[in-house]
Amino acid sequence: MNAFDLKEPETLEEALDLLDTDDPSVRCVAGGTALMLMMKSKLFEPETLVSLHRLRPNLRGVHVDDGGALHLGPLTTLRELELSPVVQQFSPVIPRALKTLANVRVRNVATVGGHLAHGDPHMDLPPIFMALDARVKIQRAGGVRELPLSEFLTGYYSTALDTGELITEVIVPPVPQGMNGTYLKFTALSADDWPMVGVAAFVKVDGDTIADARVVVSAATEKATRLTGVETRLAGVRVRDEVLDDAAELAVANLKPLADIRGSSAYKREIVKVCVRKSLKKAAGLQREASGTEG
Ligand SMILES: Cc1cc2nc3c(=O)[nH]c(=O)nc-3n(C[C@H](O)[C@H](O)[C@H](O)COP(=O)(O)OP(=O)(O)OC[C@H]3O[C@@H](n4cnc5c(N)ncnc54)[C@H](O)[C@@H]3O)c2cc1C
Repeated sequence: MNAFDLKEPETLEEALDLLDTDDPSVRCVAGGTALMLMMKSKLFEPETLVSLHRLRPNLRGVHVDDGGALHLGPLTTLRELELSPVVQQFSPVIPRALKTLANVRVRNVATVGGHLAHGDPHMDLPPIFMALDARVKIQRAGGVRELPLSEFLTGYYSTALDTGELITEVIVPPVPQGMNGTYLKFTALSADDWPMVGVAAFVKVDGDTIADARVVVSAATEKATRLTGVETRLAGVRVRDEVLDDAAELAVANLKPLADIRGSSAYKREIVKVCVRKSLKKAAGLQREASGTEG
């Protein structure tokens, strides 16, 4: 790992000023779990790192506002999220998924902001947050903007963040009443490996009809991707096994998974199909247990 200068600003304004530079090797560091791997493998050799750890008092924490939306500070650790009673009550799918993410040592230091900003398609939370229509608040010296997570994640390890910008909040709108969700991940190399396929499914059934369905696939794709065609196909339809089987077929109709050490593109298509079918059945209440590693 190369030698670098470590800056430790005390305020958000100071941090934004330090990051407001044309030098691409100046980067912020939160938990450091992703960045250090890149630095150790020499994929990234910074001149300067701007540590966010002194901003923790103002940029960490979890609360639900009067309208029922969940607000997450970017420096909240994944372990804090996992153990938060507020998050558990908001959507138990989030803490369940976190229990299967990496290991407790990683979760103790990894942060929500770093998790999203890294843009790694194998991350476990983006599919869940995307299915719940999460938005990301982004701040730069002299300005704030907000993007839906679906627009924030732009591709393989890429996001809409510009130089000099920091995630300052993640906002998740309230989960519609009566909507059930699940996150199912398939790991190929070992049980605690990164997912080869991740699927988040949320379904609201009114009587025997699907009122709302949201499905997001990740890990096999270059970024977490909402399957809007499947969602449209399911809306207003009577909930039956055959309909969900058809939805799983439709999910992979135009999907071209990326091949890698975890599996070929064809193999991943089959696994996506299985995961979509199982997670939809679980979320729709047609199957009590979804096998695989369930979040
Ligand atoms: C051994 C291991 C196993 C893992 N397994 C899994 C797994 O199974 N599933 C899974 O989902 N993840 C897994 N991870 C990844 C882990 O979730 C991420 O490394 C972590 O969430 C990144 O957060 P961080 O705070 O450490 O980010 P950092 O490493 O500090 O930063 C990552 C990137 O985000 C930027 N950044 C950080 N904070 C902000 C901010 N507030 N605003 C803008 N940019 C910011 C940094 O500049 C950097 O580019 C694993 C990691 C390790 C080391």
